[in-house]
Amino acid sequence: MRETPADAEIRSHQFLLRAGYIRQNTSGVYSYLPLGKKMLRKIETIVREEMDAIGGSEVLMPSLQQAELWKETGRWYTYGPELMRLHDRHEREFALGPTHEEVITSLLRDEIKSYKKLPLTLYQIQTKFRDEKRPRFGLLRGREFIMKDAYSFHDTKDSLDATYEDMKQAYTNIFTRLGLNFRAVIADSGAIGGKDTHEFMVLSDIGEDTIAYSDSSDYAANIEMAEVRMDYPAPEAGEQPIAKVETPGVRTISEISEFLGVQPADCVKTLVFMVDDEPVIVLCRGDHDVNDIKVKNALDAKVVELATPEQVKEATGTDIGSLGPVKLPTGLKVIADHAVRSMRNAVTGANEDGYHFKNVNPEKDFSADAYEDLRFIMEGDPSPDGVGTIKFARGIEVGHIFKLGTTYSEPMDGKFLDNNGREQPYIMGCYGIGVSRILAAMAEQFHDDNGLAWAKEMAPADIHLVPVNIKDDDQRQLADDLYHLLTSYRYDCLYDDRAERAGVKFADADLIGLPVRITVGKKAAEGIVEVKFRKTGETVEWKKEELTDKLR
Ligand code: ATP
Ligand code: MG
Ligand code: MG
Ligand code: MG
Repeated sequence: MRETPADAEIRSHQFLLRAGYIRQNTSGVYSYLPLGKKMLRKIETIVREEMDAIGGSEVLMPSLQQAELWKETGRWYTYGPELMRLHDRHEREFALGPTHEEVITSLLRDEIKSYKKLPLTLYQIQTKFRDEKRPRFGLLRGREFIMKDAYSFHDTKDSLDATYEDMKQAYTNIFTRLGLNFRAVIADSGAIGGKDTHEFMVLSDIGEDTIAYSDSSDYAANIEMAEVRMDYPAPEAGEQPIAKVETPGVRTISEISEFLGVQPADCVKTLVFMVDDEPVIVLCRGDHDVNDIKVKNALDAKVVELATPEQVKEATGTDIGSLGPVKLPTGLKVIADHAVRSMRNAVTGANEDGYHFKNVNPEKDFSADAYEDLRFIMEGDPSPDGVGTIKFARGIEVGHIFKLGTTYSEPMDGKFLDNNGREQPYIMGCYGIGVSRILAAMAEQFHDDNGLAWAKEMAPADIHLVPVNIKDDDQRQLADDLYHLLTSYRYDCLYDDRAERAGVKFADADLIGLPVRITVGKKAAEGIVEVKFRKTGETVEWKKEELTDKLR
């Protein structure tokens, strides 16, 4: 593509489109062209090797999943609009699989009935469907995407722990081999359930997640849980923000309460914005809230500045009248996941549409401890593990491992007989990798102003062969010879035999980003070519005879 499509906001997306790796079909749905498909295959090969190395066996399960299975676990009702649902001609309900816990549990419950067959790890590489609210950044958040998902089954918790550690190591190997700059972070288990979970994050400014990490230990945590905590719905009709409050130096929820003289739960909504890198908290009230008057009075005493939606917009650039969920901005972080979980478990202000702190009394409806424990952690604070200080970075979630326990086996009756002949539910783990997302994450990491710039080991091909003028007999001849020579040496060679201007071909070579470009030009008759290295821009002239030796 000569033009950058207007809706491609980030470099990786622009370059993958322009260089002909992918094409969009519709929002969040892509075709992979030959270069993109080759990249996927390379990523998949590494993933398969590492899964096989820890004893995983590959399977392929259906994308078309009958609703009955999802009803067994209740997720048919709780998964929400992200689940793509459809009917067959007999009006039977189905989903297009966003994940496969239900399908694999139903598969195994009919097959694995004795502890003697455990543990067992199965994986697949397959297309998943999620009707994402905001598909964006190309392959990073698609509605149809490729995932490696693995599931492990155990008779004991120790056995699950061992496989979980193997998986953690396998994931570390995979992302290291892919050349990605990543970190394993403590994650929140969100909708899937279960306790122990880690995410693998590629560090990148365009990442949608924020991680807090220690500058001198392995400690790292996703602060998604904090974002969930502060993810209040936008004000509804009839609600007005009543105060904009600057809170310099305020760290904890209790400090905020003290500063404001109110319990945060008394406020219908609390919105947090960044203004010039300073957190600003906006409290909103409804016109029908029992705490209305109390809140208003309390705030009147402490209010720094009263704000109408227009004033908030002027001060923050944010239109709170039409605001969706507000993300907790970088600079204010929560790490105490225990507290977040208790907040989320309280029906009250939780992570679901239609719930907030209306008509909720802290002591009565949930324990005040729930937010006593909440800690906002700032950059430069001591790391919770006592080693080093906290720094923040943005991350792209490329992998996620969970200990599920019996969350799925229990409701689905996935049971085996233990060595005492007692029936027990399988203890399970699940482990995902975003294969197509990785392609985008790699493009985000491996590019410069002129296009993609892959590492030697992870490029869709090894050599870009460019005759300057394909109509010149010497050039054509030498280029043909080299193509056959390099191919016989098992180099994967992309031969640009188009009758295009040299400038066009060079620009395309830079865009596509293969590690080595071999240009056959004026010195073709002497058997001399120019070799250019994409990453450094360095060029050398080599003779045809020395090429295969020197390329090693
Ligand atoms: P996210 O937080 O980005 O929405 P998730 O936590 O919902 O991801 P998981 O259910 O953990 O995703 O799925 C396993 C992996 O699949 C993720 O770590 C990610 O790499 C990938 N993935 C998830 N959703 C998408 C998507 N919409 N497009 C591409 N890859 C995705
Ligand atoms: Mg998601
Ligand atoms: Mg996630
Ligand atoms: Mg996840």
